Amino acid sequence: MLKGKTALVTGSTSGIGLGIAKALAQQGASIVLNGFGDADKPKAEIESLGARVVHHGADMSKPSDIEDMMKFAAARFDRVDILVNNAGIQHVAKVEDFPVDRWDAVIAINLTSAFHTTRLAVPAMREANWGRIVNIASAHGLVASAQKSAYVAAKHGIVGLTKAVALETATTGITCNAICPGWVLTPLVQKQIDDRSAREGISVAQAQNDLLGEKQPSLQFTTVEQLGGLAVFLCSSAADQVRGVAWQVDGGWTAQ
Ligand code: NAD
Repeated sequence: MLKGKTALVTGSTSGIGLGIAKALAQQGASIVLNGFGDADKPKAEIESLGARVVHHGADMSKPSDIEDMMKFAAARFDRVDILVNNAGIQHVAKVEDFPVDRWDAVIAINLTSAFHTTRLAVPAMREANWGRIVNIASAHGLVASAQKSAYVAAKHGIVGLTKAVALETATTGITCNAICPGWVLTPLVQKQIDDRSAREGISVAQAQNDLLGEKQPSLQFTTVEQLGGLAVFLCSSAADQVRGVAWQVDGGWTAQ
């Protein structure tokens, strides 16, 4: 379905980004991976699906790195047809204790980076009159939790960015939508489970159950494969008129 298309997925060396990159590769898209850590293993996993893949290690908190990555993607694969803004970090603290540098980092990586990639990707998408922008927001793009002020602000912001870009591109073949996952068991969430287990002196299994029970009525984690499936749908022609949505995949979290 996506043969001949190129997908750039930010923050795709692990977790949700890697899951979405694999799902798009399975549909025939060439992949630009981004993110920290070992890129060889995720690259090999994508290659084994028969897709072309490159990696760029841009730090998504740095606009000049992002510009370099977008130029690199265009040089390797002509243009970016599918942009998945996924890179994200978390920091948990009360607002009065929130370290200023952590606030700046969360806003830069979780929100401002998507502005930069989008502004740089849209011109070529307009030229081709086809494009897909998929922003990985969160249930926290729609509702809040205590001690996550920066993350909640950034995720609400990316839902707003999604709607504005969807309107600006509404008469074109470019769509822009957001996916709002609930809890997904990735390194980002494992850290919160481990912190909770240590803080409350409970087992990791208990901390995991408590985490789910608090927010996610299904009591099951959303999987990266489920998110990949939705990303593939949003890239399909069936989704040509899906524009500006913030689609929950959260086990009922935001239905409460
Ligand atoms: P993760 O920690 O497994 O992966 C994050 C990825 O982002 C990694 O590839 C990492 O290298 C990369 N990254 C981090 N900082 C970066 C930077 N400065 N520059 C470039 N890359 C950077 O996290 P995840 O759980 O897969 O989260 C992915 C996205 O999904 C995030 O935006 C997160 O907010 C969102 N999300 C996660 C959950 C969840 O439960 N895990 C729920 C809702 C939304």
